Parts: sequence; C-alpha cells; structure tokens
Amino acid sequence: MSLVVMKFGGTSVEDPAAIGRTAAIVKGRITQGKSPVVVVSAMAKVTDQLLRAAEAASLGDRTGALAISSRLRSRHRDTAAELVKKTEDSAAIIDLIDQEFDSLDEILRGVAAILELTPRISDLIVSFGERISSRIVAAAFREKGMDAAHVDAREVIITDSEFQKAAPLDEVIEKRAPEKLIPLVRQHKVPVMGGFIASNETGITTTLGRGGSDYTGALVGGALSAEAIEIWTDVDGIMTTDPRICPDALRVKIISFEEAAELAYFGAKVLHPATILPAVRKNIPVLVLNSLNAKCEGTRIISLAPHCKSPFKCIAVKKKLSIIDVVASRMLMSHGYLSQIFAIFDKHKCVVDMVSTSEVSVSLTVDSNASLPEIAADLSKLADVKYEPKKALICLVGEDIRGQNGMAAQVFNAVRHINVRMISQGASEINMSFMIEEDDADEAVRSLHAAFFQNPDPSVFDVEARKQLLASSS
Ligand code: ADP
Ligand code: ASP
Ligand code: MG
Repeated sequence: MSLVVMKFGGTSVEDPAAIGRTAAIVKGRITQGKSPVVVVSAMAKVTDQLLRAAEAASLGDRTGALAISSRLRSRHRDTAAELVKKTEDSAAIIDLIDQEFDSLDEILRGVAAILELTPRISDLIVSFGERISSRIVAAAFREKGMDAAHVDAREVIITDSEFQKAAPLDEVIEKRAPEKLIPLVRQHKVPVMGGFIASNETGITTTLGRGGSDYTGALVGGALSAEAIEIWTDVDGIMTTDPRICPDALRVKIISFEEAAELAYFGAKVLHPATILPAVRKNIPVLVLNSLNAKCEGTRIISLAPHCKSPFKCIAVKKKLSIIDVVASRMLMSHGYLSQIFAIFDKHKCVVDMVSTSEVSVSLTVDSNASLPEIAADLSKLADVKYEPKKALICLVGEDIRGQNGMAAQVFNAVRHINVRMISQGASEINMSFMIEEDDADEAVRSLHAAFFQNPDPSVFDVEARKQLLASSS
C-alpha cells in the first residue's frame, strides 16, 4: 500500500474551481497507484471570519455575529450546490451545511447572551470551518468519481485540553489513525478529514493552533507511516523568502528537516512549526507543492539535504513581536536571577523566542502580547521592566552559518541602514537572527535577499524559473 497523506490549505479549497483542481490532483495520485488520505483546511479566510463572529458575539453584537454566520452559510451552500449536482449527495450536503450552521448560530446566540468567550468555546466556534469544508470536499470527490469517505478528525486527532493550542497525544493518535483510516484505504476509499480540529480525551473539541492543518497532515502521515506527506498550498514550495515581500524569491528544491523546522518556527508561514516533528520521528519526506501549479516539483524536505554552495537557504520574518527589557542593578552577580525571570514567563505560559543578557539586564522577545501587562507586573517585583511592541525578528537559515568566516559582517552590512535591536547567533549552527522595528522588516528582507541570492546554487534553488521570469518581463 503506497500511502500518501495530502493536505490542502485554505486557498486550495476556497471555491468550486479550487476544489475541482484539488480533486484532479488527488485523482492523479490514485492513477499513479498511490492510496491518498486527504486532510483539508477551512475554505480561505473562513477561520478569520468565524473568530470575528465569536468576538462580535462576546461583545454582545448578536446581529453582527449572526450576519457573519449567514454570509458563511451562503458561501458554503453555493459552493456545495455548484459542485454536487448529480449524485444522491446533493440534497444531503445542503441539509448538512444547514444543520451545522444552525448549531453554530445557537452557540453564537449563547455567547452573545452571556457575554463571555472562553478558549474552549472559541475552539468550538472555529471548528465549524474544517467540519464543513471536509464534508463539501468529500461530496465533491464522490461527484467526480472517487470513492471518498468523510472522517471526523476529532475521532482521530486526540489532544490535551490546552484549548486554542492543544498538544497531540501521540500514543493515542498512533492507535486511532490506523484503526479509523486503514480499513477505508483497504476498501480503496479516499478518507477526507478536516485539519486543525481535534478533541480531548473526553470528546470536547480542541484545535492545534492557527495554521494547524499542516500539523494534522503530518500527525496522520506519521501515525500511518505514510511514504510521503504532501502540503499543497498556493506557492511553488518553500521559497527563499515570502514571495509577497520579495516577488523574485526562488523556490528551494530541497531542504533538511532541521532547516525547515527552524524557518517555520521563525515565521515562514508556509509550514506550521510543528509539522516537521512527526515526519522526523518516522523519517517521512515532506513535500510542499502548489495546487495552482501542480506540475511544479515543489520543495522536498528530507533528513539530510545535499551540500549547498550558497550561504543561506531562506530568510524568514516573524512580525508582531515584543521586546521586554529587564534591568536590575541590585541583582548584580547574584545567582538564580535568570531562573526567577524565566519562572515568570513559564507561569504565564509565554514562549520566549530570543534572549540577550548583560551583567544587570536581560532582554527577551515574545510572540504573544496577551499576558504582557501581567508578566510585566510580576517582573517589576524583581527589577525595572520596559516592554515595546511592534518588533520583527529576521532569521537567516542555512547550513553551518557558524563555520563561515565574516558572515555576520556581510549580513549586517546588507542592513546597515536599519537599526538592529537584538542579535542572536550561537545556539544553532543553522540560524542567525536579529530583531528590528516591524516597519523596517520588509525592507530588511529585500536588502538581505538582494545581497545573498544573486548567484544561488542551481542544485538547491530553482534558478531556471527566475531566468524565465526575467526573460518574460524584458
Ligand atoms: P495554506 O492556506 O495553504 O496553509 P498559508 O497561507 O498558510 O497557506 O501559507 C502559504 C503562504 O506562506 C504563501 O502564500 C506565502 O505568502 C507565505 N510564505 C511566507 N514565507 C514563505 C516562504 N519562505 N516560502 C513560501 N511561502 C511563504
Ligand atoms: N483553518 C485554520 C487556520 O486558518 C487552520 C489551517 O488552515 O491550517 O488557521
Ligand atoms: Mg497554512
């Protein structure tokens, strides 16, 4: 059985045309003799809109919340009606969409009545995106002649109860995924499930955090020991940087698990940071592919990538960060100071990205502003505290950065016109990062890209595509 997990992101299921392309891609894999297991995101922008509806309801704007839900209901109904015409599914799918939206409306009314939105209810509300998209995609696949079977992801992906960022319980998933999915695959069915959504051990809905459908794909791929995990999105693969910032970004043909994990963690939205973990455990290649350009071979992520002659593979940028400066002269030379500081971040479940220390001061960066005032209040019992939002972290990823003489000088020369607030290079051999003002981030990325991707190594980067682009624009 050549099992392949195929995850399709929001843009790959955003409308009837996109779902049609997705169906053709999955059919293509079946023709190649593969057994696909399909994981889909909510239709593009639906998760954002569900969160907006939840927030409106929590502020007492019942009409606003229900209006968002009503627009989403029409969008899903129209998509299903256009895709599912022939089969006996056509009435059933519209009925099902109505039932799902009726229960969503009931929840929104409840939130508007009690004026409180807990993380648990927020997860329940956003779960409707993937619950409904996966039903529509399964019905559309059947219409197009595939024997698709819908599977409720909440029966497969079991997590702890950390709502909005739940951690998967690997041992349970390792049992559940084969139990639920392999019998279907053996009957030559195509299982279709929603990404991102899960449930805790008592069956309460949880989610894996924003962008978490990639993680679902990898978890399922790992649990089934699939031969590949395919992440289908709207770009040709992992690019040298975000093509929205730098349109001349190049496709990275091949990259190691370690490098991909680093750049996903440091902001390359194309992959959820945890996606690589299950793949590494079972040494399963991850492919990042474009559902709008299915012929392109994408990016292959494997355990050991071939040597690259260029110093860097990719530049990632993570925005909306804050810097916290902690200054305590009275702590001079005293031990245990850092552990007291970190205990406070731990207490507030706040992840620290970067740390820089001097004799009396510590600067840290965090990517969640949620508990900053509370953290600052606790820290101020130990020291003087200042925090500033609107910072960005630029991270350059490449093999053996530490071993290359003069690399830091070249990097900071490329961004000499930009004020650098914090620098980190050391812990990892494959990453060099620095912190700047958020408003300078795009300019910094473009300057670095121009400096380091002039003559990229053709064995690692798709230089042909750039040549064709230049030829067509001249
Ligand atoms: P999906 O909905 O398919 O999961 P996402 O929007 O989460 O897609 O991720 C794809 C987007 O990631 C791209 O459209 C691109 O703008 C952004 N991106 C950021 N950094 C990179 C990078 N290094 N390579 C490719 N895409 C990137
Ligand atoms: N729909 C979820 C989100 O927008 C999960 C995903 O698309 O990966 O965050
Ligand atoms: Mg994504």
